[in-house]
Amino acid sequence: MQVLEFLVSGAVQGVGFRPLVYRIAHQMGLGGAVWNEPGGVRIRIVGPARNVEQFGPRLRAECAAPARIDQLRILSVSEVQHTEPFRIAESMSDGARQALVMPDLATCPACLRELLDSKNRRYRYPFINCTHCGPRYSIITGIPYDRPQTTMRGFKMCEKCQAEYDNPDDRRFHAQPNACPDCGPQLELLDATGKRLGGGDWALRQAIAHLRDGRIVAMKGIGGFHLMCDAKNEDAVKELRRRKRREEKPLAIMTPNLAYARLLAKIGDDEAEMLQTSAAPIILLPRRADAQIAESVAPHNPYIGLMLPYSPLHHLLLHGFQGSLVATSGNISDEPICIGEQEAIQRLAGIADIFLVHNRPIVRALDDSVVRMTAGKMIMLRRARGYAPLALPLPLETSPVLALGPHLKNTVALAMRDRVVVSQHIGDLDTLESRRAFEQAVDDLQMLYGEKPDTWVIDKHPDYASSLFAHRQGRNPIQTQHHHAHIVSVIAEHDLREPVLGVAWDGTGLGDDGTIWGGEFLRATPEGYIRLGHLKQFRLPSGDGAMRKPIHSAFGALYACFPEQMPALAMRLLDISGETAKTLQTLIEKAVNAPLTSSAGRWFDAVAALSGICRESAYEGIAAQRLEHAMNGANGSSLYPFDIVVEAGCVVFDLKPMLEALLADRNAGVLADQLSLRFHNTMINIIVRLADAHRGLPIVLGGGCFQNKFLLDSTIQRLREAGHAVYWPQLLPPNDGGLALGQAVIAARTLKSPRQT
Ligand code: ZN
Ligand code: ZN
Ligand code: FE
Repeated sequence: MQVLEFLVSGAVQGVGFRPLVYRIAHQMGLGGAVWNEPGGVRIRIVGPARNVEQFGPRLRAECAAPARIDQLRILSVSEVQHTEPFRIAESMSDGARQALVMPDLATCPACLRELLDSKNRRYRYPFINCTHCGPRYSIITGIPYDRPQTTMRGFKMCEKCQAEYDNPDDRRFHAQPNACPDCGPQLELLDATGKRLGGGDWALRQAIAHLRDGRIVAMKGIGGFHLMCDAKNEDAVKELRRRKRREEKPLAIMTPNLAYARLLAKIGDDEAEMLQTSAAPIILLPRRADAQIAESVAPHNPYIGLMLPYSPLHHLLLHGFQGSLVATSGNISDEPICIGEQEAIQRLAGIADIFLVHNRPIVRALDDSVVRMTAGKMIMLRRARGYAPLALPLPLETSPVLALGPHLKNTVALAMRDRVVVSQHIGDLDTLESRRAFEQAVDDLQMLYGEKPDTWVIDKHPDYASSLFAHRQGRNPIQTQHHHAHIVSVIAEHDLREPVLGVAWDGTGLGDDGTIWGGEFLRATPEGYIRLGHLKQFRLPSGDGAMRKPIHSAFGALYACFPEQMPALAMRLLDISGETAKTLQTLIEKAVNAPLTSSAGRWFDAVAALSGICRESAYEGIAAQRLEHAMNGANGSSLYPFDIVVEAGCVVFDLKPMLEALLADRNAGVLADQLSLRFHNTMINIIVRLADAHRGLPIVLGGGCFQNKFLLDSTIQRLREAGHAVYWPQLLPPNDGGLALGQAVIAARTLKSPRQT
């Protein structure tokens, strides 16, 4: 008899993988055992040599989503006299923790059928799940993934559930969150003060009635609380915005099913498929003109964010409501999403009228993920529930590295051996709450993967909360340049081995020369970079605060191009008072609180203000977004001129000719859609021009500006037409949410080739 031992890594825990192994071994008449290890799943197969050899290929062939085999490594081959009946053994908890922690999985079709089947013992039970679906990352307290290491540890399975859990032929075999109405978590309805009003199905039906009456319900879901209200009810949606202090950002909508979603948005085949995946993200979709939703769901926006129900509780709620609901994160403006009942009652006081909660604890906050299709591929705009944590292969072996990420749209990453794990979206680190969530994520990754890296890596900007944290902890972190990290993130995602031409366009990042970069062209590898070029710089009056004031960007750009006509020109074009103009001009001329910037994001802001599209913006990026939407389907290839000059070996794209032409257009009464189109085309042309000058280098696009669908789609198309290979972020967002990956890879490289002294 031959004995073969395998170690399988990939998505193999919590996805019904061991039952699959058991079934195949059983059918092939093989003995042995299978068990979970921190490093993956270990399999021992005993039987005649010929059969034993066929086991691996068959396992690969029959492994289906959500399970995924990344590697099937043979550890040993030996001989024994006797075989043994195949069994599923207890988990081992030592060894290298390479097993992937699974993301939360949307309710599977089999569970959904049972949920709505009045003869099933889990009929209308809001916590039904199986090995193919249910909570994972949101309930895991340690690896390996076993019930005692989840927040289900407090629920003792009843006899029926235990029998399912123990039966290898059952869909719930070793389904760690397995539960039923007799033994599992229960619903409760609380009033705004936290007083219990009732439980069970009554609570659910009451919540639906409240939604019908136009009230705002806070519902505890998978990765935190949702704030929900009737998506058709203008008053309810307006009130939710007012209470949540959310002025303009679109609110996500959950529809009962795909058919309902099609009434609200134009949905392609790829998008329909994406909506129904087990990740169940929010997808940004072109909204239908006849969509029956309140105007204030997504004001001034041709897109809406849609998702389908992804937990049994959502299914029951939407099924009962028979219509679409606004389902937005349970938080105030940019704070992290609430996960606990007490916390929600306190923080959402004054926002929610009623709370639908349950007693299965959530370990970590996971917002809904947001994606969009671009150039036929999905791109991630916010990566959290359903996708996090993300493990990517590293092109090199590394000692452990902890990357602390940026200040805005923070994520953190942990690199170890040949892998890097990126956390869920944490958010902007401006509030105490979000800095707490950040610190929890830092601890969390280290705890889950059992690594305490000595090497930390940060952005070189000294004022980022993530950088300050590293220094406060007495670390001596490796420092990375913001735009280099943007580009390396994409290099790592696509495993590019050659130098690339990186186009890093975003809002702001600290450059090597102390100025604010953001419209950069870098020849880059993970080891380093050369700044090949950038957009024309201007002084931005009142620095960082200016991201909410597009007219400041416009003032700075005008001053840089037409100093002799200032401030009169700005007063006329931007409709600002002489006093304001004088203040801004003094800041620029004295170079006080007016940093030099080459930021593409600020050029978008400037043009948005000069086109009369946006003067004030409630959050960063809104001016650029309105500028993009102002095109309103306009097409054509007309564009503005620009100059190319060389300063200190660096190509500078001088946008003065562009501004002159744009202002002439404006004088001639050209409408905003054409101004916007011509500006976008100009920016795309700049990228193509530089790419043509460096033919042979693959082009990598990164940075928050590429959230702009027109800019990204058209740049990809134009570069391809010109014969360039082009790469862009897909698994991680183009914005700062992807930065931690780049930081981790740069640090891993630095450790490999020690810094020169
Ligand atoms: Zn299921
Ligand atoms: Zn039970
Ligand atoms: Fe950035």
